[in-house]
Amino acid sequence: MIATESSVATVSFYVNGVWEKPEGRALHHITNPATGAAIAGVVYADESDIDRAVRSAHEAFLKWRNVPVVDRVQVLYRYKALLEKYVDDVAATLTRENGKTADDAKAETRRAIQMVEVACGMPSLMMGDSLNDVARDIDCKTIRQPIGVCAGITPFNFPAMVPMWMYPFAIACGNTFVLKPSEKVPLTPTRAIELLHEAGLPPGVLNLVHGDRKAVDALLRHPLVKAVSFVGSTPVAKHIYTTAAAEGKRVQALGGAKNHLVVMADADMPKTVEAIIGSAFGAAGERCLAGSVLVPVGEAAGPLLDLLVKRTKSLAVGDGSQAGVEMGPLVTSDHRERVAGYIDKGLAEGAKPLCDGREKKSTDGGYFLGPTIFDYVTPEMTIAREEIFGPVLSVIRVNTLNDAIELVNRSAFGNATSIFTNDGKAAREYSSRIEVGMVGVNVGVAAPMAFFPFAGWKNSFFGDLHAHGKDAIAFYTEQKVIMSRWF
Ligand code: NAD
Repeated sequence: MIATESSVATVSFYVNGVWEKPEGRALHHITNPATGAAIAGVVYADESDIDRAVRSAHEAFLKWRNVPVVDRVQVLYRYKALLEKYVDDVAATLTRENGKTADDAKAETRRAIQMVEVACGMPSLMMGDSLNDVARDIDCKTIRQPIGVCAGITPFNFPAMVPMWMYPFAIACGNTFVLKPSEKVPLTPTRAIELLHEAGLPPGVLNLVHGDRKAVDALLRHPLVKAVSFVGSTPVAKHIYTTAAAEGKRVQALGGAKNHLVVMADADMPKTVEAIIGSAFGAAGERCLAGSVLVPVGEAAGPLLDLLVKRTKSLAVGDGSQAGVEMGPLVTSDHRERVAGYIDKGLAEGAKPLCDGREKKSTDGGYFLGPTIFDYVTPEMTIAREEIFGPVLSVIRVNTLNDAIELVNRSAFGNATSIFTNDGKAAREYSSRIEVGMVGVNVGVAAPMAFFPFAGWKNSFFGDLHAHGKDAIAFYTEQKVIMSRWF
């Protein structure tokens, strides 16, 4: 039986500029992960809801594509101002449904705002090239045109930022959009879209629907959807990529991760430990950039683990909305059980626990789990191979930098990795040889900013063009070459 907070409301769909409360349909509870209390109810879209949203986006596209880009971005300038004004409100909503700490939620919202800032530069960003007299009296130019209705399907862990990897860029390019955020955290994207509505976006340019795989599959198969952006786990990313591509759509599908943090003996240990704590246990390990395998090289292990274990045991775990809390709960009760299951598995496979997160008891119905560190993990163990998506760090000791590189390159994933060292040559060799999309040097979470592209390699990404940065403009536009001669 789920306890209920007093202000439980049904989350709305937003179609053709109208907020709709689907009545008389099954409600799914959204809970506050710090308390377990129900905070909202959400209805899952069916095929006809998706069809309505896509058709509204298509109708809007026929007008929006003709609005000059300098006018389109005026909406985004107003949106940016509103996001700034309500940043605390968006961040508090985020903590309430996702569980991450207030500071972390604010940092995520700031990153989201940065996406809007970059998309405001679309008049320059979507310019083409031109060259006169490519042959006698013939000029040539390229132009970029919007592609139509784009769909975005997003995960639970960044409900403010990840949708904004997509729709500010897409609509600034002249497309229209249907967003289907994670059904676990629908409140933050809803608040973000309320502000977009307030900024004066014309009806139908952005439509918001909630739901599960049924809604996603209807989007993937809808003939009027021309491009699909997905962020989530690897099995779903693969499904999205193969299904949407087979339907002739453009797809970018960012998947899961297993990120390695390599520490050389010459690293600055206190600073490295702080970076590892942030990487492995920040957002309770629910980040696609979270460090989840620690790889001390040679003599690094002793001093590193001494400091790391001490600091980990002092980590303040609790309700993320409270001051001083460094790590919040996991997103749902099921996810907490899944992560705890990995800790059981680590023990069963013979890894040595240096801290066991299960000792942190779930108080007040929240989905808490403390940080866990396993030493003497081998590359074959389940906890070394699979994405856990929780505060569990596995230590694999190696002898040389070359061993570290080979270990990381054997992983099925290639999202992010970091090396900690004071040796420029080691850092350079690591960055160059490592088969991973995003690399940090003495940086624990190598998250590219809005004006750089974001994506991994191998099973962490399916597609060609990455999220945000210049790739977003290429993804959300079709390029045309025009050659002209005048008699
Ligand atoms: P998820 O794959 O379970 O869900 C993501 C989205 O897909 C949700 O909107 C969900 O409704 C939908 N979905 C779920 N199952 C589906 C199915 N069978 N068919 C169609 N749609 C389906 O992911 P999650 O648990 O919400 O998020 C965590 C995952 O996202 C982790 O694996 C994490 O690494 C990954 N992630 C990756 C990045 C990146 O940049 N690579 C960023 C953030 C999160």
